[in-house]
Amino acid sequence: MPHQSEKSTINTARWQRVRRALALRANFRCECCNCFTGMAGQGDHIVSRANCAAQGIDPFDMRNLQWLCASCHAKRTNAERFKKHEPKPKQRRRTPVKGRDAFLTAIQAAQ
Ligand SMILES: [Zn+2]
Repeated sequence: MPHQSEKSTINTARWQRVRRALALRANFRCECCNCFTGMAGQGDHIVSRANCAAQGIDPFDMRNLQWLCASCHAKRTNAERFKKHEPKPKQRRRTPVKGRDAFLTAIQAAQ
C-alpha cells in the first residue's frame, strides 16, 4: 500500500531531522522559486517515494531531496499526477505558408 509507506516515512523522527537539514541546506528558501519559506517549506523527493523503492534509493537520501515552498511542491505533485494520467499532447504541425520566412524577416527588420 503506497499510502501507508508514505506516512511511515513522514511520521518519523528521522524525517524531521532530514527536513531540518534540508531547510538549512537551502537557506530556508524554496529551491525552485527562491522564495523564503522558513521551516514552512516541504521536503520533496526528486525521484518520487514510490519509485525510490523500485530504484533502491533511500527515501532519506539528501541527494534525492529538495526543499520547496508549498506552492512549488503542489505544482510538482500535480504535474506528476498529470503526467501519469494524461497522454502527451500531440505536437501541432504548422501548415507551411508560402512567404512566411520573408514575412518574418521583414517584421524583424522593421523592429
Ligand atoms: Zn517555490
